[in-house]
Amino acid sequence: MYEKEMKKLMKLYQDGIFSQPFYADKIAGAQDFESYENFSKIPFMYKDDLRNTKPFDRTSATTKDVYGIFSSSGTTGSKTFYVYSKKDKKVYNEFVKAFYSELGVNERDLGGVFAPVDTGVMAHSMMWQFTTMGSGYVNCPEPSPDNMIDFVEALPITIIATRPSVVCSIADNPQYVKSAGESNVRMLLLGGGFLTEGRRKFIEKMWGASCYSMFGMSEVFGPMAGECRYQDGLHYLDKYLLIEVLDPVTHMPVEPGEYGVAVYTTLWDKGFPILRYWTDDYIAVDTSPCRCGRDLPRFRYKGRLADCLEIKGQYVFPRMLEECLFKYGFEGEYRALQEKGNRIKVVLEKRDGYSVSPGMKKEIDELFMNEVAIEFVPKEKLAYDGHAIRFIKENG
Ligand SMILES: [Zn+2]
Repeated sequence: MYEKEMKKLMKLYQDGIFSQPFYADKIAGAQDFESYENFSKIPFMYKDDLRNTKPFDRTSATTKDVYGIFSSSGTTGSKTFYVYSKKDKKVYNEFVKAFYSELGVNERDLGGVFAPVDTGVMAHSMMWQFTTMGSGYVNCPEPSPDNMIDFVEALPITIIATRPSVVCSIADNPQYVKSAGESNVRMLLLGGGFLTEGRRKFIEKMWGASCYSMFGMSEVFGPMAGECRYQDGLHYLDKYLLIEVLDPVTHMPVEPGEYGVAVYTTLWDKGFPILRYWTDDYIAVDTSPCRCGRDLPRFRYKGRLADCLEIKGQYVFPRMLEECLFKYGFEGEYRALQEKGNRIKVVLEKRDGYSVSPGMKKEIDELFMNEVAIEFVPKEKLAYDGHAIRFIKENG
């Protein structure tokens, strides 16, 4: 299992990529990378490991190797720094070209980066992706509905990069939807959240543009996986990324093709390597051939384990509720709250003329194992909070 990957890691090890105590302590006992069995004894790396160490204690790189550094404050505790080396930028370019050449992004395009200002890494990655493809870009750091429409009316923007929730925010204003449809925008590259098929179709219709899901994380870069024109799973470059898919409880590999937690390891001499990094992403890897004909595996992303609700031993992800809502024509905001005693309250934005059909009620009941009540509230109570946390666990 993972023979090629173990050879690469062995080479990186011999080249001294893991010589700092931060890594050496973790890989003691498994440092020969002789087999996946040995490798799988390396303890997981977590976000706290990054938060509680200084980036330059985790690298043999020096400031002359640095391409860029970003920080995120997080809600509690100290800042996390993400450092990109010049070599990482070269690998990043390979990822971008692999995804965007396939989609036909080119130098005639003008990219609109509609990433909120609090997403520093994301906004920069999105700007870099356009320059990598030879396209120009414009940055809209406060992508309110008004601002977005101003930008697409004033400029011949052909591709928008942002989160799914941002491009949906114009939906309540028919004039804005008309402007979006009449704009030059032909493609939307959406990251920073899951994209259901229902929402994809809703966005594609509203903007009159094709919509592709992209996947990234600050610890590596974005996009580190991306859809092709067939919109059927996120391709990734397995020569640079080892993705283990593990059972969330036993930490053992799941059966091929099944869902589990993604644990990432980078396979190049990354400035700041990640080694068995546990991110909570719930994914399934698909190694079957894709219609695009490229020899790149894909994964399907269900969401983050931290964002799902566990009901009677089953994981229920926001994505599953959203798929059901769109299927029954509900295109508004929603939340699910897990109350005391594990009862679930599904809260939907009140919309004129919309009520819950028997079919929709049945599916929601089944999804939450009959522990659910549905209620409507005014939209203000569900206003987009910048992060779109859909499922909330009430303590107690
Ligand atoms: Zn494909």
